[in-house]
Parts: sequence; structure tokens; C-alpha cells
Amino acid sequence: MDRHHRLLHLTLKHAAENPHDTKMAAIVAIGSKPISKGYNQVKSHPKQKCLFNPRRLLHAELAAIIGCNLDALVGATIYVARRYMNGMPALAKPCPMCHEILLAVGIKRVYYTIGGTPENIEFGTYRVGYSKGGGDAYRDQTTVRND
Ligand SMILES: [Zn+2]
Repeated sequence: MDRHHRLLHLTLKHAAENPHDTKMAAIVAIGSKPISKGYNQVKSHPKQKCLFNPRRLLHAELAAIIGCNLDALVGATIYVARRYMNGMPALAKPCPMCHEILLAVGIKRVYYTIGGTPENIEFGTYRVGYSKGGGDAYRDQTTVRND
């Protein structure tokens, strides 16, 4: 199992601990080392407003980022996982708002669950930023893997 699988697996496990109905979690990692984790929750945080989210729903990605020294996030990777009540992985691609936040704090790559099983997670990944042709990597460069 490569580190991306291992970290997605860990994120999926963390999602199971989420008391919220939508079981979504995120882990920020530098290389293979997780530095922060969070899950979606209906709660505001003082830092939330300056991170472009005035709404009360704190998304998992933002919850994970809030726990970090923002300077430490440049070049980091974020893993985002969601699970159904039956434990199966579900689509967890960051929403456009979270994407903007990831871009703003300098996180360079995203891995997120798409489906599969906990043992064989199907996931997508993309580089945060803009592609050379001027297109948006969020839309253009997502690749799906389940190897
Ligand atoms: Zn979001």
C-alpha cells in the first residue's frame, strides 16, 4: 500500500469518528507525515471568516487547515474522505469554496475518495493551481486511480 492509500485509509477511519451525519474528514500531510486532521461540523471558528467562509458549516478541509500554522501548509498535501453509513467510501472532492482556500494557503495536491471499498479505495487526485494552458486544474487535471 503506498502512502496515498495509507493516508486516505486513515482519513476514512477518521471520518467514521465524525458525529455529524455527513461523515467527511480531511488530513493535511507533509510527505508521509500527517500534521493535522479535521472533520465537517456545524460550528464556526474565529479564523473561519478570514478564510473566506462566513457560513456556519465548517467543511472538513477547513477544519483540518484551521488546526495548522498556515505557513506550514505551503507544498502540503490534503486527503479528503467521506464514508456512507455502511462504511463504504463516497465521493469527497473538495467543493469550489474549499478549493479556493487550498489554493490560498498553498496546499499543492489533493487526494479524495470516490468510491470502492475501505480495503480498495477508489480515489481521485489533482494538483491545486492552474494548468499551463490557463485552464483550471480543479476541473481539467483530475485523474482517477484505484491502483
Ligand atoms: Zn468544502
